[in-house]
Amino acid sequence: FDMFFLAFVERLFRPTFRKDDFVLGKKLGEGAFGVVYRVSLAKKSSSNKEGDLVLKKATEYGAVEIWMNERVRRACASSCADFVYGFLETSSKKGGEYWLVWRFEGESTLADLMQSKEFPYNVETMLLGEVQDLPKGIEREDRIIQTIMRQILFCLDSLHSTGIVHRDIKPQNIIFSEGSRTFKIIDLGAAADLRVGINYIPKEFLLDPRYAAPEQYIMSTQTPSAPSAPVATALSPVLWQMNLPDRFDIYSTGLIFLQMAFPSLRTDSGLIQFNRQLKRCDYDLVAWRRTLEPRASPDLRRGFELLDLDGGIGWELLTSMVRYKPRRRTSAKAALAHPYFDREGLLVLSFMQ
Ligand code: ADP
Ligand code: MG
Repeated sequence: FDMFFLAFVERLFRPTFRKDDFVLGKKLGEGAFGVVYRVSLAKKSSSNKEGDLVLKKATEYGAVEIWMNERVRRACASSCADFVYGFLETSSKKGGEYWLVWRFEGESTLADLMQSKEFPYNVETMLLGEVQDLPKGIEREDRIIQTIMRQILFCLDSLHSTGIVHRDIKPQNIIFSEGSRTFKIIDLGAAADLRVGINYIPKEFLLDPRYAAPEQYIMSTQTPSAPSAPVATALSPVLWQMNLPDRFDIYSTGLIFLQMAFPSLRTDSGLIQFNRQLKRCDYDLVAWRRTLEPRASPDLRRGFELLDLDGGIGWELLTSMVRYKPRRRTSAKAALAHPYFDREGLLVLSFMQ
């Protein structure tokens, strides 16, 4: 009762919006299940800057996405983009669309930043708020990548602790929040909340094959279909233990780590080729390295060199994330306690987190 009451009161005091409140700006993205715009509020609303909100007009999965965002906002707000409001907009289309509104966090996703030749130094500048006048080198790059990894894992750990598996972790869904100067996770459109059984049956067609772990189903196929909420609440900690659905996100995060270390894997074709090679090696990263290293390009060699710093602590972390069996992959919490993160990161960050 308390929780429902609090949620109700909280809802009462939050702003509510309607279709006419929004002035559409630039289109930020368009997927199979929705379109995303930068928007601003129409005149009557008081304090707002130009285009400081983001609006997603979503199809049938919008309802789940609203639910996930509401839950995240209450349980682990700092991990994801700041959610403002979600509602069913019925005036235009037959059956209606779900409209979701977030605060505009910033101009760049990790994907945008990784496409730059300056990566990871461009991220360093954003994290610190100023250009560092230091010699470039592999140690400095490692430190920046370490800081990015820590932030992603920090967000994932709090999502997973809340019972939510994201299922679409990729650089395109990691936004740099200019306000808090940290990376945050976006796009809960494919997420599953295992504690209450929302979006419990995995919609595997929603998954991005470039970043998806080899297991087809998040939960084993023997797991019964979505139980009713009270039952699921009682059962799911056990199911979670048995199936380790969170490890799906860990695999995807491992691929992001890999892309940050190896510039040639940052392109779509590079990543797709890597996935093919890894599959041929039965998802054994050590075997992949063994087949590649003798004839490795300077680019690949440099990636291995970065991961081999400090006794190969980065390589060790990477191989504990990218493994075939979910059970053998580390969790977000355990990854954060990995010696890879014992070394000093960027200064501002140790202050913020
Ligand atoms: P899609 O289902 O189209 O992938 P996303 O939720 O990932 O929808 O949003 C699409 C794009 O819009 C993102 O890749 C990002 O560039 C931008 N975007 C989404 N949410 C925000 C936000 N809160 N702040 C700034 N940009 C955002
Ligand atoms: Mg997305």
